[in-house]
Amino acid sequence: MNTLAARAVLDTIKKYDHIIIFRHFRPDGDAIGSTKGLKRILELSFPEKEIVLQNCDFSDYLAFLGPEEEARDDAFYAEALGIVIDTATAARISNQRFSLCKELIKIDHHIDVEAYGDLNWVEEERSSSCELIAAFYDAMRDELKIDTEAATYLYTGLVTDSGRFRFRSVSGDTMRLAGMLLDQGVNTDVLYAHLYMKDFEEFKFQGYVLNHINLTENGVAYVYIDRATMAEYGLSFEQACACVSYMDSIKNSLIWLAFIDADNAEDIRVRLRSRFVTVNGIAEKYEGGGHACASGATVHSTAQMKELIDEADRVLGEYKRTNEGWL
Ligand code: AMP
Repeated sequence: MNTLAARAVLDTIKKYDHIIIFRHFRPDGDAIGSTKGLKRILELSFPEKEIVLQNCDFSDYLAFLGPEEEARDDAFYAEALGIVIDTATAARISNQRFSLCKELIKIDHHIDVEAYGDLNWVEEERSSSCELIAAFYDAMRDELKIDTEAATYLYTGLVTDSGRFRFRSVSGDTMRLAGMLLDQGVNTDVLYAHLYMKDFEEFKFQGYVLNHINLTENGVAYVYIDRATMAEYGLSFEQACACVSYMDSIKNSLIWLAFIDADNAEDIRVRLRSRFVTVNGIAEKYEGGGHACASGATVHSTAQMKELIDEADRVLGEYKRTNEGWL
């Protein structure tokens, strides 16, 4: 834990009456949990401050966590401290008006590729940005307050970004902080029902995906979901994107890829996942990035999709030839 960075963040927060919190576009549980969690902690701790979330795209899947604030005018931004959480690069911030803020803090756990804040606090080894915000609370607990609501937001990101505490990013600290949050009274029955229950159509779609997984020579598993398939199963883009997790437990398939047609005609979203072997290098060649074992990218044609699959196959082949102990 970088306590100097945590101290600097809290001292900067104390200077401002207005605070705007941002996250990345196409938000996941960690992006929403960490921003809502920090907002709630700051509201409890500094009731005189006005703290708002200002983002331009939303998640139906995570709507149960509640809405965000209406757009504020430029004058509000000009006087405000901006805090961007869980977002590696400025281009990925959901609301590009972040640049109007008087001062900007970046708090993140992704690979540190761009220091776009005036103050940048990145801990790449953290399982989630929610873990980092929980650690922030824990380190500064004499000056901050937490409650069940804040703990529930943070626990959401801890659970979702760690694959339910299975990924290698999970440390003893992750579990200790999870324990601290549970002690606040998080209702895990309700939370897990929201996160893991599926609509019937999604079950049928899961069957489709399992029947359409392809395997390359070296064992890369991949599936392509086009617009027609989404329409056939009555799925939103967000629901279709969940298919990447259906491929996560095939023996010898250390890399798995989901390609999903985006809303605009030109883009195909790529979700890359792996165990043992690193995939963010592949993502970075295709307008993407992320973590060693969970990254995102974009391709623009089926030809480019094939190129990416070939590259992943090459990386996996090389990994298997030069490493032992994988499965
Ligand atoms: P996704 O499959 O889109 O959920 O991405 C997996 C992880 O990689 C998430 O933590 C994303 O925030 C991150 N990620 C996705 N796309 C990019 C990108 N273009 N640049 C940097 N990080 C990304």
